[in-house]
Amino acid sequence: MANGKRDYYEVLEVNRNASETEIKKAYRRLAIKFHPDKNPGDKEAEDRFKELSEAYAVLSDPQKRATYDQYGHAGLGGGGFSSEGFGFGGSPFEDIFGDIFGDIFGGGGTRRGRGRRGDDLRYNLTISFEEAAFGVETKIQIPKYQSCEACDGSGAKKGTSAKTCPTCRGAGQVRYQQGFFSLTRPCPDCAGEGKIIDSPCPECKGSGRIKGKKTVSLKIPAGVETGNRLKLNGEGEAGSQGGPPGDLFVVITVKDHPLFQREGQDILCETPISFVQAALGCEFEVPTLEKKVKIKVAPGTQSGKVLRLQGLGFPSLQGYSRGDQLVVLRVETPTKLTARQRELLEEFAREEGEECHPMGKSFFTKVKELFG
Ligand SMILES: [Zn+2]
Ligand SMILES: [Zn+2]
Repeated sequence: MANGKRDYYEVLEVNRNASETEIKKAYRRLAIKFHPDKNPGDKEAEDRFKELSEAYAVLSDPQKRATYDQYGHAGLGGGGFSSEGFGFGGSPFEDIFGDIFGDIFGGGGTRRGRGRRGDDLRYNLTISFEEAAFGVETKIQIPKYQSCEACDGSGAKKGTSAKTCPTCRGAGQVRYQQGFFSLTRPCPDCAGEGKIIDSPCPECKGSGRIKGKKTVSLKIPAGVETGNRLKLNGEGEAGSQGGPPGDLFVVITVKDHPLFQREGQDILCETPISFVQAALGCEFEVPTLEKKVKIKVAPGTQSGKVLRLQGLGFPSLQGYSRGDQLVVLRVETPTKLTARQRELLEEFAREEGEECHPMGKSFFTKVKELFG
């Protein structure tokens, strides 16, 4: 699935939440380093320079950057996974406006004399956290109009065919004069279709399509997230009277996980440890998406400490990089103490002096200095 393109943030050596200024700075620094004038005849430097310019062109433009953040290279027309028969399309925004809104505002698809284009369909698919991480193959059933088999979608009874409308001569529109203006309106005799069916197909009553259910196989790539949209070309409603079908958009929602939280390509996992474990250090296993991993907590660990398990996060949609799992340690204060535990802790406090903790001492000294 990798298309060989490096992540733009990686190219510019900045992190994903870098500011515009940081991106500009990084680009300047690297562009000077790899500029062809400074590296005559060096093909690698030249390639790096081109790669840099491309990355900068996207990340310096807030709108393109947002698209890239959400859809990766695929969102910018970089090819994603269209080899499976679908992809995010050239630009997801153009697809949405061109296809979906086009149908809503344009009054029912494109009309080019030869039938009507079928409507686009939207299907909301909910998948599990794990399925989003590893990808999943699934089948969905969509209720939709399909091309009528009895008449091959023509709408005319088998053995007959539609004839060109004599009123509009197939144009679907007729001209009329109103004052100075020559206007057009849909042909009244063929309802704008340009064709007249004398003997309509009994199965579809002349429309050329029948409401039914279709099972569509989907291959959801690893790394998708809520809001991602897959476009399946030609899997929307069938067109009428031989018109082309619409497209199917599958909009993904990823379910929450009880333990894990996703942050970009990283997975956050809050893990409670007791204050004794934090003070003395310990070793234990934490769950990750794939397997259990042993982690070591150093003696004297503070609450909020983050341990990074490299490469155990989400893959990128393009499949050439993978995030990490971040284990966030939360030190828990005991809420119920036995008499003996209380006794031990009080002894512990006496051993430490009133204020218990060296950090605490300097904190309270500062409070005294500042507020008297
Ligand atoms: Zn039919
Ligand atoms: Zn007509």
